[in-house]
Amino acid sequence: MQDRAFANKKIDFVWNTVVEEILGSRETGVTGLKVRNIKTQGVAELKVDGLFVAIGHNPNTEIFKGQVDLDDLGYIKTQPDSTRTNIPGVFACGDVQDPVFRQAVTAAGTGCMAAIEAERWLEQ
Ligand SMILES: Cc1cc2nc3c(=O)[nH]c(=O)nc-3n(C[C@H](O)[C@H](O)[C@H](O)COP(=O)(O)OP(=O)(O)OC[C@H]3O[C@@H](n4cnc5c(N)ncnc54)[C@H](O)[C@@H]3O)c2cc1C
Repeated sequence: MQDRAFANKKIDFVWNTVVEEILGSRETGVTGLKVRNIKTQGVAELKVDGLFVAIGHNPNTEIFKGQVDLDDLGYIKTQPDSTRTNIPGVFACGDVQDPVFRQAVTAAGTGCMAAIEAERWLEQ
């Protein structure tokens, strides 16, 4: 991913820098960022019209460690074509069990699967 980003001429990198403030208003939307260089402490304004917060790629499954089986990357393991985990009656869906797609619609889909499987499990 880094190599692809470095090779893309449309992407500029601003290193050692944190966002201090998002500039703009409800009327204008985002117009820029106030950024601070953490080495020099210099503050500058960056003109942008949008902002994405990158949250990283680690699944937020720390609390399930030792409780259900996780794979090497920390995703909850589910059985093929199912949201069943290794613990009967415990089902996992969404980004915590999806190392491939991690999209809203796939999370909603597996959420629906988990709801149906939980309902059937309770019924039995
Ligand atoms: C910047 C960004 C852009 C994205 N853009 C798109 C897009 O354009 N299209 C698309 O389809 N998908 C997009 N996604 C992915 C999409 O948001 C996720 O795939 C989807 O939200 C996953 O749903 P989820 O229910 O599995 O997890 P989440 O939506 O992450 O929900 C998990 C919930 O669990 C809560 N939680 C966490 N820990 C605990 C705890 N200990 N106790 C109780 N609650 C807890 C969290 O607060 C959160 O509400 C984007 C994601 C990001 C971060």
